[in-house]
Amino acid sequence: MKHSDILKNALLMGAITFAGSSQAQDRETGMFAPLPSSTVGPMVDQAKGFLVEDLGDGLYWLTEGIYQVMFLTTGEGVIVVDAPPSIGQNIINAIASVTDEPITHVIYSHSHNDHIGGAGIFPAGVTIIAQDLTTEHLKNKNDPNRPIPTQSFAESMTLKVGSQTLQLDYRGVNHSAGNIFIYAPAQKTLMLVDVIFPGWTPFPELALAQSVDGFLEAHNQILAYDFDHFIGGHINRMGTRQDIETQQEYFGDIVQAAGKANGAMDFGAAFGEAAERGGHNNTWAFVKILFDAVTQQCADEVEAKWIDRLGAVDVFTFDHCWTISEHQRID
Ligand SMILES: [Zn+2]
Repeated sequence: MKHSDILKNALLMGAITFAGSSQAQDRETGMFAPLPSSTVGPMVDQAKGFLVEDLGDGLYWLTEGIYQVMFLTTGEGVIVVDAPPSIGQNIINAIASVTDEPITHVIYSHSHNDHIGGAGIFPAGVTIIAQDLTTEHLKNKNDPNRPIPTQSFAESMTLKVGSQTLQLDYRGVNHSAGNIFIYAPAQKTLMLVDVIFPGWTPFPELALAQSVDGFLEAHNQILAYDFDHFIGGHINRMGTRQDIETQQEYFGDIVQAAGKANGAMDFGAAFGEAAERGGHNNTWAFVKILFDAVTQQCADEVEAKWIDRLGAVDVFTFDHCWTISEHQRID
């Protein structure tokens, strides 16, 4: 499959949504900045449509280039974490390419369709595990593509199957309610989805984080684990501790730049521009001009510093600056 086809496929799955407010790219030319080396990942064989990487001791990472799955052979069956519809049947194909063991357990990282909406492909009778809030949500949705978990937990759960162990932890709302840390201690591998985007800026608005504070705190929570491999659920490669620290530094800069810009709001200029553009008594026009100026000031400062360090900061930093600056104003 071509990269453009994979992307189209992912978009059609409702996987990729864009905030409408981005002031992306070079404002004069409309050109995107070249991607830095941090964005380079392993090549996916386009004819095959997926890549499986052996992390040792029965653990595997699977991707089609945009979404990611982790699976673990145990001697008594395979544990799969997530089922993005964009990978779909290739999850089964990828597992069959490395083991004859049947799939016996499925773990949902969180409830979102773009990460688990392919779970209808698993054999009937598999054990499906999720955090209570995910389970509750899926019961309400009653979606055949996201079968309701058969086992659920509130805070922590140790899953032992055959020779293997996975530690599942819930540490509060970050990207979404019920989004869990999935840790393979023997393989020193940690998975947390939709929070860290190794080598790249995240999706708009802190990857649509349900809790801004929870999203920022998740960086510390991740670093408290002892791991060598990090699986973020997205983009074309895995991460290391360094990638978490890098993203934490990037958001630290956004928090600082947004705070500075919020403290330097030019009400007179915004009022003047609103009036000039026919919005004399238009409160929302005034507010938009004022807040856009804050967001742009934050984005300009952060983009200049990060354009060579993380991928696509010219595309989505504006959206992160909007979310953080607004969060600072209201909470
Ligand atoms: Zn999600």
